[in-house]
Parts: sequence; structure tokens; C-alpha cells
Amino acid sequence: MTEELFSRDSYTKEFEARVVKLEGREVILDRTAFFPGGGGQPPDKGSLGIGPIGAMVVDVRREGRELVHVTDRAIPDSVRDLKGVLDWERRFAHMRYHTALHVLSGVIWRNFDARVTGGQMREDRARMDFSFPGEWTVDVVGEIERLTNEALAEERPVRVYELEREEALANPELIRTRVNMVPARVRRIRIVEIQSLDTQADGGTHVANTREVGRMEITGHKSKGRQNKRIEFTLR
Ligand SMILES: [Zn+2]
Repeated sequence: MTEELFSRDSYTKEFEARVVKLEGREVILDRTAFFPGGGGQPPDKGSLGIGPIGAMVVDVRREGRELVHVTDRAIPDSVRDLKGVLDWERRFAHMRYHTALHVLSGVIWRNFDARVTGGQMREDRARMDFSFPGEWTVDVVGEIERLTNEALAEERPVRVYELEREEALANPELIRTRVNMVPARVRRIRIVEIQSLDTQADGGTHVANTREVGRMEITGHKSKGRQNKRIEFTLR
């Protein structure tokens, strides 16, 4: 089982770990700060190495309770310990966009009764799909942007903690985000809470305060059917 350092501290940029398994270009470590991707957030990139030996991490994936790092070249199987370094600029961008998506999600839920149906973040942009019950106009889009920027500027703390499954399922804030979709075997559920705005069961990495997100600018919006809407945005 890989210890997931990013779960407790999203700001871990470097770490040392023991090699559990080395096979070709695949490496399993006893602990890692590399996020494997999920919930619309891409897997991390970076490097693994020791002394003169090194390789770039090009992909990370979850395999049962272990995380597999895929490197651009094989690391000799005599290696026992490795140091990992994240491509921090890229990861921090994902953290900012991920938190922005949750703020956006809280804003449209509280103000428009709209529910998120999907989201995707990149280093330089993100998009969110949602089910919007009202009329979809340029004014509404402008209002969403204004309210989201207002919420970001309020410097709201972002808290990460765990709840027992039963407790999470009973939390009315969490029901709208379909916490019941979390597999039954997961007994303790990781929660990401943006103060007084948005609470979700979430495995991703986030900034600690909305002030780190900056300002968002909606760059595109689409109507993809009667209720299905999409917003695309960048951060400044
Ligand atoms: Zn999320």
C-alpha cells in the first residue's frame, strides 16, 4: 500500500521513499507525493532519482492500493531508495484550478440551484459542466463570474479532513455532491471544505486559501442541451 503524501499535505514538493517494486519503466514506492489523477485533475509529472541515476515521471496511476509511477526510462533494479521531485509549477496550477472549480460549484449551487455534472482542469484552463435549471443568458454568465471572484477574494480557508462514512452520508451539504457514489469499501471519506461555500468528498489537491487562486475569467460558455451548460475559464 502506497502512503499518499498529497492527501494530507498538498504542498509536499519533494520527498524520499523506499522502492517497493521496479519493473521496466514502472516504479512503486512506499510513499509518494505524486497525485495519480482523478476527479478531473490530471496526474502529476516530475522526476525520480538518486545520485547520477534519474528519470522523468511521465504518468502516475492507481492500481488497487498502490500508485504506479511511469518513467521515461528504466531505473536500474538495484536502486533501493529514490527522491521524488514534482513539477511544482504544473501541480500548483492544478491546485489553483481545482479549488476554483469547487468555488464555482458552490456559487452556482447557492445562487442558481445548479448541480455540477463534470469538470476538467489543465495547467492553463478549466471547464465545468452543470445542470442549470433557469434561463441561460450572457447576464447570468457575467453574474456567475462576478460572484465567483467575490468568493475568491474573500480569502476563504480551504480545509481538508476525513469523516466516517456514516457521518459523511448524513451531512446535508455532502448529499448534493453525491457522496453516496463513493465505493462502500471506503470507510473514511476525505472531505474538502471551502469555508461557508462548498463541501465535497474529494481526493484531489487544493490550495489552502482561496486568495491563492487569484481571479477567474470566463473565456467561453456553451449550452449543450436544455439544461446542460458548460463554462470554460482561465485564472489570472
Ligand atoms: Zn474536486
